[in-house]
Amino acid sequence: MKRILLISFVFLFSCTSEKEELPNSPYVMVLGVAQDAGYPQMNCKKECCAAAWENPELQRTTSCLAIVDPISKEQWIIDATPNIKEQLQLLKQKTGTEKLDGILLTHAHMGHYTGLMHFGREVMGTNNLPVFAMPKMKTFLEENGPWSQLVELENISLQKLKSDSTIKLNENIKIKPFLVPHRDEFSETVGYEITINNKSLIFIPDIDKWEKWETDISELIQKVDYAFLDATFYKNGELKRDMSEIPHPFVEESMELFSELPEKDKQKVHFIHFNHTNPLLIDGSTAQKEVLKKGFNLAEESQIIRF
Ligand SMILES: [Zn+2]
Ligand SMILES: [Zn+2]
Ligand SMILES: [Zn+2]
Repeated sequence: MKRILLISFVFLFSCTSEKEELPNSPYVMVLGVAQDAGYPQMNCKKECCAAAWENPELQRTTSCLAIVDPISKEQWIIDATPNIKEQLQLLKQKTGTEKLDGILLTHAHMGHYTGLMHFGREVMGTNNLPVFAMPKMKTFLEENGPWSQLVELENISLQKLKSDSTIKLNENIKIKPFLVPHRDEFSETVGYEITINNKSLIFIPDIDKWEKWETDISELIQKVDYAFLDATFYKNGELKRDMSEIPHPFVEESMELFSELPEKDKQKVHFIHFNHTNPLLIDGSTAQKEVLKKGFNLAEESQIIRF
């Protein structure tokens, strides 16, 4: 009996505290933080994934942000990941519903759009769910199966985006896609700027090196309120293969680049999109301590960003 009481107390406590945390104006919730493959990575038998295979609590889903408007009761996600099932469940646990009002896509790499498969006949069979995509991404979905079937059966309704052009998701939320350099085999790649209450957040899960981008990332960080940035790899040499074939800004390089920024701007940076080899996935690692000591942040699942 004592035990049941204790369990129900803990349950009640955790439910109410979570509910109390939610803002009553639009906010962003982090639904996933890992690179496309999630963490641990399939077939990885190395040290990096060993503990996560043993303990599901250490596992992380592919990077994904939700935009939630508690006023209009609408919600959107940026990217449809292979973990969309778990991520919408997490969203439902927090907001009370997994209903989506739209999906914004960054690009056609596996971690960022393949979750769309769950909206077809075999699973949800949605009716004209708005999917926002850049022109090449849109054409890719229209012209290639199985995605083309989602379009033909009107499970999804593609909405064409234009880079640097702002759209209103509703009265309270604005979104602007912007092009970034990346391995664009099937589509262009965008990051997003979300504006709520005149505050803004940028989300760039994938980009080649910062110097390949015409935008100065340090200047951009100073202009926005939050920056969720590509942290696929912590440092050079992390993979045995030639890492120049899959360029990303190493976290070490980003921290060096941003080292002259004032503390308040460093605090805006939230690293995300961690590859399974990235020690930032390991709680208490030297790398984690280093990032936090230098004044930067790490994105966490269920994290809520207020505007
Ligand atoms: Zn990715
Ligand atoms: Zn691994
Ligand atoms: Zn990518």
